[in-house]
Amino acid sequence: MDKIQMTTPLVEMDGDEMTRILWKMIKEELLLPYIDLKTEYYDLGLEHRNETDDRVTAESAKATMKYGVAVKCATITPNAARMDEYHLKEMWKSPNGTIRAMLDGTVFRAPIIVKGIEPCVRNWKAPITLARHAYGDVYKSVEMKVPGPGKAELVFTGEDGKEMRETIQVFKGAGVLQGMHNLDASIESFAKACFNYALDTKQDLWFATKDTISKKYDHTFKDIFQKIYDADYKEAFEKAGIEYFYTLIDDAVARVMKSKGGFIWACKNYDGDVMSDMVSSAFGSLAMMTSVLVSPSGVYEYEAAHGTVQRHYYKHLNGEETSTNSVATIFAWTGALRKRGELDGNKDLMAFADRLEKAVISTIESGKMTKDLALITSLKDVTVLNSADYIKAIRASFDALA
Ligand code: NAP
Ligand code: MG
Repeated sequence: MDKIQMTTPLVEMDGDEMTRILWKMIKEELLLPYIDLKTEYYDLGLEHRNETDDRVTAESAKATMKYGVAVKCATITPNAARMDEYHLKEMWKSPNGTIRAMLDGTVFRAPIIVKGIEPCVRNWKAPITLARHAYGDVYKSVEMKVPGPGKAELVFTGEDGKEMRETIQVFKGAGVLQGMHNLDASIESFAKACFNYALDTKQDLWFATKDTISKKYDHTFKDIFQKIYDADYKEAFEKAGIEYFYTLIDDAVARVMKSKGGFIWACKNYDGDVMSDMVSSAFGSLAMMTSVLVSPSGVYEYEAAHGTVQRHYYKHLNGEETSTNSVATIFAWTGALRKRGELDGNKDLMAFADRLEKAVISTIESGKMTKDLALITSLKDVTVLNSADYIKAIRASFDALA
């Protein structure tokens, strides 16, 4: 078979620990034999980030803006223990944080559905995609413990010196205070990313906040979404046969539980944080969750939702066998390859991505899987494979699909 040709490179961001091991295996077994793989390679492994004073992270984000599509391996976010372990010059920032800030994105996460790994919510038949706004609110808030009686006020001083002032509370005793903010520009890019992603994946878009109580803050989110929808997306949605609707967050939660799935749920930062954990654990496993960062300018970065699986890596270093699930990392590659194919009009590349995903799913459904899934599957007589053999089993399924 001739290898599939690529016209434009993908930005490849290598990473750390067990996922770095899987990365190499995936390329060698599942990609290089079939594709004349063109990537612009950036090593975001912690050692190389340290050597380059983390410049490599910013360079990889710039390359993503240039080429439009990146695939990223999980990376270590350094903490005190990692400072010693890797003899770091500095406690470098989270690469995901750096990349997100540069691309100005929204993160979309969706579970990968296979027969035999059933969601605990019985009526969920199709994946629910969470779209989380990743800027502001309580994550950038200022807080105070109020020691005793006194008056708390919200004051805004304009550049022209004019003041706006609201009394928050006249305290009779001790209490707590919090000031938070968001930006119209950030909410606008969040809205655009959601609308574009809904069109891209042909799914309905739900958005919910608590605008009945928060008549200015949350209501602004609602209004910005509606304004952008009416002006720029309504026609395209109608043409695609999909729907955008806004509802109250309480109503959304109730409807999500009773739904069949198959839609995008856009959430404010905090709602997205807690609801994505709920949705992902109800669907089964973090290793079965895709994640893509979409910027309003149409730049895509694909990754797995999990980390570097450190515990498995230490076993691997000890010469012990590991059974680490590579599904989310493979889907990061297929997502990126499919998008590259779409942008370049490369049908072979898109078909390759579809076929590889099919092979991954059919391998699991035939009872061959890693340990994390074997523990939760409803299938009988499963074979638990080690990390490498699982990838080899996918290759066999892939070849059989020819
Ligand atoms: P983790 O790598 O997600 O792993 C936590 C646990 O979840 C593992 O110990 C394992 O459980 C299970 N698990 C996760 N992925 C799995 C997979 N593919 N196959 C099988 N089991 C899997 O989180 P962590 O250990 O807390 O973090 C390790 C490093 O990852 C940290 O340095 C952190 O900074 C980084 N991190 C990176 C990203 C990212 O780059 N996107 C995201 C999160 C964390 P068992 O051990 O019980 O088998
Ligand atoms: Mg969380």
